[in-house]
Amino acid sequence: MSLLTVGIDIGSTVTKGALMSDGAVIGTCRMPTGWSPKETGQHLLYTLLKEHRVSLESVHRVVATGYGRQTMEKAHKQVTEITCHGKGAYFINPANRTVIDIGGQDTKVVRLDDQGNVVDFIMNDKCAAGTGRFLQVMATHMEVDVSQLEELAREAAPIQLNNMCTVFAESEVVGLLATGASKASIAAGLLTSVASKICTQAQRVGVVEGVYFSGGLAENRYLQRAIQDKLGVTLQLSPLAQFTGAIGAALMG
Ligand code: ADP
Repeated sequence: MSLLTVGIDIGSTVTKGALMSDGAVIGTCRMPTGWSPKETGQHLLYTLLKEHRVSLESVHRVVATGYGRQTMEKAHKQVTEITCHGKGAYFINPANRTVIDIGGQDTKVVRLDDQGNVVDFIMNDKCAAGTGRFLQVMATHMEVDVSQLEELAREAAPIQLNNMCTVFAESEVVGLLATGASKASIAAGLLTSVASKICTQAQRVGVVEGVYFSGGLAENRYLQRAIQDKLGVTLQLSPLAQFTGAIGAALMG
């Protein structure tokens, strides 16, 4: 009989799940976290299991991670997102040594050794600067969806933005729009600022080749290029980028 484990990553914005069988990912699922991490975590667990016709009783371990991990009653244990991102990144590619993660409301950079153990990390979960939330707030003012920013940004050179604090940057963007700056140049400026911020964070931890970009913002190709240019490395990417923490949690099970 195969050994089934589930990892649930309850993020501030999106809850992700990964179902693993004998060390291989056989299913993933994601949904907005909404107002109740507790209900969403449970709902995601049952949705993932139902989609793959697996009963909870046949699962060896459910492991929760992410900011809402303590609310997950069905979990056998809770593990920090630093450990889970490290495990997940190493599983996705054992050559990964530096994990750059930009999520909904936090950013982190994790350094791994050649066994996939965490040797150092830096995490900003105190303010929304340089996170998905930062981009969402600015996109709302521009009346575009956050997913449209990358396409817009390709149409113009980045405008210089002087504020990274979400509150001050919001006023700056409103002011720029009022003086006729194009949405394209603002979008390029915002994504360039986010890239600069995470690169500064990465340089503080030390960038070791095998730089893997995870989290929801890893899907943004403009950001990928901007980070690559600033760090002078080719980023390792994966279609499972947003599930890195959930996969790590499932592996811990
Ligand atoms: P968390 O775990 O903190 O909830 P995730 O790593 O799941 O966050 O990422 C969710 C964030 O990714 C959201 O803020 C969402 O707006 C953002 N996001 C997803 N796709 C894109 C994109 N193409 N461009 C910019 N931001 C994106």
